[in-house]
Amino acid sequence: MIIHLKNDTPRGIIDQMLTDYHGRVFFQNNNPVVITASKVKKVQPEHSRYISESFVFDSDIQLASSSYLDSKRTIHIGDLVMGGEENYTHVIAGPCSVESEEQINETALFLKEKGVKILRAGSYKPRTSPYSFQGLGLEGLKLLKNVRENHGLKIISEVRDATHVDNIIEYTDIIQVGAKAMYDQGVLRACGEARKPVLIKRGFGSTLQEFVQAAEFVLSGGNNDVILCERGIRTFETHTRFTLDLCGVAFLKHHTNLPVVVDPSHAMGHAYGVPDLARAALAMGVDGLLIEVHPEPAKALSDASQQLDFQTFSTLYDSLKQLAPATGHTLI
Ligand code: PEP
Ligand code: MN
Repeated sequence: MIIHLKNDTPRGIIDQMLTDYHGRVFFQNNNPVVITASKVKKVQPEHSRYISESFVFDSDIQLASSSYLDSKRTIHIGDLVMGGEENYTHVIAGPCSVESEEQINETALFLKEKGVKILRAGSYKPRTSPYSFQGLGLEGLKLLKNVRENHGLKIISEVRDATHVDNIIEYTDIIQVGAKAMYDQGVLRACGEARKPVLIKRGFGSTLQEFVQAAEFVLSGGNNDVILCERGIRTFETHTRFTLDLCGVAFLKHHTNLPVVVDPSHAMGHAYGVPDLARAALAMGVDGLLIEVHPEPAKALSDASQQLDFQTFSTLYDSLKQLAPATGHTLI
């Protein structure tokens, strides 16, 4: 249950409600918002006078639910807007990992000339093997900060565990919670305290309910700016790296109030399929596409097989520009 309290509700009453309803509280424009434990469906009579509005749900999709907010949340990324009523589709592109100053600058220059506004690149890489490239860490974030300052691009980069959240907040514009970190409650809680947009990728073995509940951890910490990213789930199929769950995208668009981004690169795992999947996702009217691009994919230190070279990305971007008006979306 979500309970909007009047802003003159005494602190003692709020604390009593938190105890009685096993709830948590955050403040929205100075107004207390209490979220109760799942089983609480009504309040005690003595609390009614402090309530301005309340919402009851049949599942733990609450703050993210389209029955709580019937319009999509608007996320401000500096001067960019995602979600809301705008019908924008943001192309978020860049290499899997920051590898060197030369690599990231070359990519940034190319993407900026193409018209892309948000650059992606990981610096703390959650690799499946400890013997694979683990990312440049803080050094890589500093290279991303230079890109942000020199080229005016917005930056999204990934947290591997809760110890990096502060660094990511300082150097980037969007915090990326990766598929493997989606269940890390230390990361999710730290993101809830951050005042910066958070993009959460769906764990490849998680249900839609679990995925949205990860977003609830961040939202119930008081951070309103959460973006969901479908990046493929594991199925019995082995010819593609994962299976892009477009049914899931339809569910998220219908049942949640959060912007939805699709990552065709990690889903497919092979560059040849990425353009078609990106166009399919655009046709669904998603709020963003996350696409891996590298100056020399074959030499990439991570995810080499799925990264697009500049020529392929350029052709894809041009086709997305052409397609967008037919979908009622504007490509950013
Ligand atoms: C990435 O974006 O490079 C990445 C590691 O993605 P995921 O968390 O979806 O595997
Ligand atoms: Mn990657």
